[in-house]
Amino acid sequence: MTEAKYIWMDGKFVDWHDAKVHVLSHTLHYGNGAIEGTKAYKTHDGRCAIFKLEEHTKRLINSAKMTLIDVPFSTEELNKAQIELLQKNELTEGAYIRPLVYLGYGVMGLYHKQAPVNVSISAWEWGAYLGEEGMKKGVRVKIASMTRNSNTSGMGKAKAVANYLNSQMAKGEAVECGYDEALLRDDQGYIAEASGACFFIVRDGEIITPPNDNSLESITQATVIDLAKDLGYTVTRRRLTREEVYIADEAFFTGTAVEVTPIRDIDARIIGCGSRGPITEVLQKAYFDVVQGRNEKYTKYLTYIN
Ligand code: PMP
Repeated sequence: MTEAKYIWMDGKFVDWHDAKVHVLSHTLHYGNGAIEGTKAYKTHDGRCAIFKLEEHTKRLINSAKMTLIDVPFSTEELNKAQIELLQKNELTEGAYIRPLVYLGYGVMGLYHKQAPVNVSISAWEWGAYLGEEGMKKGVRVKIASMTRNSNTSGMGKAKAVANYLNSQMAKGEAVECGYDEALLRDDQGYIAEASGACFFIVRDGEIITPPNDNSLESITQATVIDLAKDLGYTVTRRRLTREEVYIADEAFFTGTAVEVTPIRDIDARIIGCGSRGPITEVLQKAYFDVVQGRNEKYTKYLTYIN
């Protein structure tokens, strides 16, 4: 991670190294908090813009609402803080932005409503999440032995801190087994999503991605679906089984951090040509055109910081 100068904490810009919390902070013990992952890009005209800032900030507030936390800042205040944070840190080449809503120090029982609600926003330069080579050649994926938390026992639509134990166990298993990323099934056995991304396949020219029945409502997935439709592809949202995934012509992940990352192998089954597929490449390019401000139709989603 490349350190930046400041981190925003509850309305103030704090030196990166002074951005500390008490060891008895409630979230550290019981895991109730909400995060976002938002990204800013250098645009084609040499400026810098945050992509879908409003959507990300709204999701943060909604995630907190689902996990019974009232965020003490409005969407407008948090949007402004994110813009100012990038400006003050001079992150004009682009950055990953990580807002965090967490419960602070003051209460030790599980009942959390009396615990203080704190908000921090950090930002730093972050390259390709699954590696530059993966963006060109595709990554290797393992279907996790653990399923995604079921809808009856979790808050799957929330980008809740607690959900990432499940993600982390799946990711850890995949990496320890020599793969790059994990794909989780839901409790019915259908493909849900990756540890931190959504999943698509291409089969006979049709682009298929699961509904968000048991996955985060992904902002990148929505963008890529829109782009694919703009480009004239048929996009279907339906459940996918493991064996159908193995025989896909192409497969890829979408997410703010992974952007559009091709998949070349799932559980030792080579996907398509064993490298980035042609439709994946088209969508990957289209996505970068959007976030870098080259697609007029989507410039309404860019918040310029300079
Ligand atoms: N699923 C999970 C579990 C994630 O953490 C992410 C990353 N935020 C995604 C999907 C993709 O969501 P988005 O496109 O909004 O970044």
